[in-house]
Amino acid sequence: PTIPSIVLNNSVKIPQLGFGVYQIEPGDVRAATDRALKAGYRHIDTAAAYANEAGVGEAVRASGIPRDEIFITTKLRNADQGHEGALRAFETSRKELGLDVIDLYLIHWPYPRHNLFVESWKALEKLYADGVVRAIGVSNFLQPHLDRILAEGDIVPAVNQIELHPSFQQAELIAYSAARGIAVESYSPLGQGQDLTGAVMRSIAQNHGKSPAQVVLRWHLQRGFIVIPKSVSEHRVHENIDVFDFSLTQEEIDSINGLESGLRTSGDPATFD
Ligand code: NAD
Repeated sequence: PTIPSIVLNNSVKIPQLGFGVYQIEPGDVRAATDRALKAGYRHIDTAAAYANEAGVGEAVRASGIPRDEIFITTKLRNADQGHEGALRAFETSRKELGLDVIDLYLIHWPYPRHNLFVESWKALEKLYADGVVRAIGVSNFLQPHLDRILAEGDIVPAVNQIELHPSFQQAELIAYSAARGIAVESYSPLGQGQDLTGAVMRSIAQNHGKSPAQVVLRWHLQRGFIVIPKSVSEHRVHENIDVFDFSLTQEEIDSINGLESGLRTSGDPATFD
């Protein structure tokens, strides 16, 4: 399938659908990434904290796919925040991945109790100026954290990667980010599988001869979000990228918009350490 791109605020293009590797064991990630690349994914989302960057890098380097056709995101882990820590951690990630340039580097969490995210952001700005990363952004940032980056930093984050799925929709944070040119990237887009069983999703799926997972991914795409589902099953890896041959109607999107229940799967960024 041809995967559409989103143009980030610095003109870099990111494939709108990618493959997430959170909770894939280090020993399994090489094979999982191989499967994703063979299925047509060209965007992989990893993190230092996932302890599996090396396997992602191996798969990318062995794939034979030109480097500039694959988009790689990794993230700064909380324990490495701070100016020097961030610069060092980036070098470690780059070595683990075995890649010269990273496409997108994110601050994984604001980790606000430690008050190091602005300092960390300035280190990411330096990496961007040095040309070793094509875009920089944040993850799990709430409005007060974005406000400080916008006030104290020089670069507007290219993306905010946040928990986002039908049961947890973050409408205000999305509107805030969009108004400032920050692309929204949905993590745990399927609610880690929890958002797929409701009657609304099953009935919309039936309308299209598609699965509930495919309907949820379509909802993210049609809302304009970048989306990074994870699966280690060959069948689901194909299923999750086979979402470009149908469209939800506005009514269907509206009914999914109505499924917010506040059910989140990850920690609250205001307190998460
Ligand atoms: P997800 O919403 O992608 O759900 C994955 C789970 O859903 C799978 O383990 C499987 O159980 C199920 N599933 C997948 N495809 C399916 C299908 N077609 N049909 C039925 N069930 C299916 O959850 P996730 O892995 O938490 O999130 C995706 C990616 O987002 C991660 O791998 C990671 O890259 C990123 N992420 C980032 C953060 C962050 O703090 N920035 C946090 C969590 C996840």
